[in-house]
Order: sequence, then C-alpha cells, then structure tokens
Amino acid sequence: LDPSKLAEASNRLLSCLTPKLKQSYHLVVSFSEEKARFQICLDTSLWFNVYLQNQKMYDFTKAINVARQYITNTRLKVSPEDEAPFIVDYKETEKDKAFVLCPYFPTGKCKNSKEMCYLDDHPDIICKVDVVTRDGRQTKCNFYFAIKLIVNELSNGDRKHKHYTNKTLVQHKPFWDDLLSKRQKLDFYSIAINYGLWETGQSQNKYAQECHAHIHLYFTANAWNKVKKRISDPDVLLKFNVRDFSGLNYLLQDCAELEDKKLRPAEHLLVLNAVSNLSLAVEKIDRNLSMLKDNNAALVKRIEGNQRNLISTLNNNNAALVERLDNNNTALIKAIGSLKQK
Ligand SMILES: [Zn+2]
Ligand SMILES: [Zn+2]
Ligand SMILES: [Zn+2]
Repeated sequence: LDPSKLAEASNRLLSCLTPKLKQSYHLVVSFSEEKARFQICLDTSLWFNVYLQNQKMYDFTKAINVARQYITNTRLKVSPEDEAPFIVDYKETEKDKAFVLCPYFPTGKCKNSKEMCYLDDHPDIICKVDVVTRDGRQTKCNFYFAIKLIVNELSNGDRKHKHYTNKTLVQHKPFWDDLLSKRQKLDFYSIAINYGLWETGQSQNKYAQECHAHIHLYFTANAWNKVKKRISDPDVLLKFNVRDFSGLNYLLQDCAELEDKKLRPAEHLLVLNAVSNLSLAVEKIDRNLSMLKDNNAALVKRIEGNQRNLISTLNNNNAALVERLDNNNTALIKAIGSLKQK
C-alpha cells in the first residue's frame, strides 16, 4: 500500500483501455490487510460490442452463449443481501432535494452571507476552474459542497481545494496518501470511481466532459455503524441512515442492460435463423419421404412381377412334375403287370 505505487497502477490500468471501452467504465479498488486489488469493470454492452461481436474472434452463436452464461453466473453469485431493498432515484427527488440551493448559485450575485441567505444552501466551497464542455465551450467547473451535506465530524477542515477529474485524481500520489489515511479512520473496504458516461450520468450538465472528481466508498455494516457513531448532528445522521442498505448493485444493473440492449435482439435473431433452418430441414425430409414412397411403390411393383413369374414357373414345374410322376406311375404299373404274368 505504497501511494506512489497505487498511483502508478491506476495510470497503467487506465491506459490499457481503448477509446471505445473508455465510453463508460468504473474502477474498483478493494483493500485488504496490506494489499489493494484493482478491478476495471467494463460497460457490458461495450464489452459485447468490442470483444464478442468481433466476427474474427467468435461466431455469433458462441458470443451469445458467452454473454448468456455471464449473466446467469453473475445473477447466481449476487446474494439477496447485496440487492438494495430500496433505491433513491436522484432524478425523481430533484424537485424536493435534501437541500435547496440559493437561487443565485452559481453566479454568486447573492448579497447574503451563507448564514443569512434566506434559502437552505448557499455553498461557499465552489470549484471555479475553467473546463471545456463536450460541445467545445469553456465554462466553470462549479462543483460545490452543499453546506447541509458537509459532515464536519468527518472533514479535515481544509477548505482549500483543487480541480481534479476522476482520471487525474487516481494518478495523483497525494490522493492515495489522503485516501489511505482516511481508510485508517473510517475503515471502508473498497472504493469505486466512475468514468465516461457513468461519471457524468448524475451531473446536471449533460455536456459536461470533465466532472469534478468524486469517489464512492463502501463499508461493511460494522464499519458503517462505527462511522455513524461519530456523527452528532441528527439531520446528518438521518442522511447517513438512508445509506444503511447497499445501493444499486451495478453488476445486476449491467446484466439487465446487456440483456436488454444486446442479448435479447441477438437471441431473437438466432431463434429466427434456427426456425428458418428448421423449416429448410423439414422440407428436405419431406422431399426424401416422397422419394422413399416412390421407391417403395416401384419395389412393390417389382415384387409383384417377381411373384407372378415365380408362381407361373412353379405352376409349370408342378405340372411337368405331375406329368412325369404320372408317366412313371403308368410305367411302374405296366412293369408290375408284366411281372405278375411271368
Ligand atoms: Zn444566497
Ligand atoms: Zn472542479
Ligand atoms: Zn459517483
């Protein structure tokens, strides 16, 4: 668990991916005693496109089987406890958020201080770095910490911040320094970082290209309860309680997506092909069957012909035999008669 080695590992892993695979993926780093295990989770639909749909490597039927097998195995592996019982859909709660932003945000024209602002939240930690959007405009990052969501008990009080993207963050040694020291305190066992479309998925600005970096922390139930004990603000504790259950299981979500987008249409095509092959085979059997019938009729005709020949030959032979027997009989009777006379 050497921070510079962790940064180096991240750098190498991220550079393995082709641009296509970089469209959406996440990096998961799990910690155990003295080791960190890096895992890149690909977008299953992209994985199917890049690796399985590649005709040179796989035939279509084989590819579909690989994908179907993956889905079945993954679903069997996820225990029911890992399936979230209740999921907050952040897009749905948009109208009634856990905090309400000052209407002047992010232009900053509000005259009030954060304490005096009449609405709930008037963020004072805002990232003002210039970033370029996907359609090539220059804009401010405007990443902010909603005051209501800052957990003072867990913050280091450092109000200075720099702009990092998820990509630059994991290649930065001080990030790992900081993360490892936080891990000592909070005891999370794993982190996950989203990239590409999965990174900007929850962002308000669909044109965002370089989101301000953020990571997801995963806790065991035990460690999570210990973290909650440090929280004194009941309002913040309520928000922590919402996270008592694991969130959306990404593996299952990816399986559903792979099944919906790729596998079902592919399997449909496969079934259509199989049906048309089947009807061709049935037609062939049908042709063979009628050929068999013709042969059968010819065979019956020949057998009948043979039978007729056989019977007439037999009849003829029989008549000749009877004649010869009669002749012999007459000769015998004559011989016996002449013997008696003697
Ligand atoms: Zn304000
Ligand atoms: Zn930023
Ligand atoms: Zn995220």
